[in-house]
Amino acid sequence: MKEIAAEGMKYLYFPMHEGLAKILEQESINASSLQNLWDSILSKQLDKLRLVLIPSEIIKSQLYLYVLYWLDNSDLEDIDRKVETNSYDDNDFKNAIATRFGKLKCSNCGWEGYTLVMSLADVYIGHSQLEDNKLKLLTDEKIKKCPNCTSRLRQLVVNIFPQ
Ligand SMILES: [Zn+2]
Repeated sequence: MKEIAAEGMKYLYFPMHEGLAKILEQESINASSLQNLWDSILSKQLDKLRLVLIPSEIIKSQLYLYVLYWLDNSDLEDIDRKVETNSYDDNDFKNAIATRFGKLKCSNCGWEGYTLVMSLADVYIGHSQLEDNKLKLLTDEKIKKCPNCTSRLRQLVVNIFPQ
């Protein structure tokens, strides 16, 4: 785990080789449910995502789990190395969006699946310019639609995990 600051945000960043183990040491995390999700889903897309903990803007001791998801083809193993040697910069995180992991249901066809969603007025509270920059990255083709009926999912879904 490494405490980093990128684009004005503070993160506790977990490189790939640390997997989930270090996060589960944090007291505020619900370990058993997270372990299951990690085993079944999250660990399978480590070329696109990293887990981070972000301190709450309101209660600094409270940490929230987010999934940083890269919209481009950044080499995350390279970014891991840069984080560990303190040689990263804001550019490495320019195409990463802090998302929440969860299950979503399509209101049109009833499809259900695990997704990563950017929620507004959430992680980027107090960083409105950064939030605007991230929203600009979310062009129409980056926002995922229902894989079953192609309806809009009414959320800013950046990734749908294969079933
Ligand atoms: Zn649908």
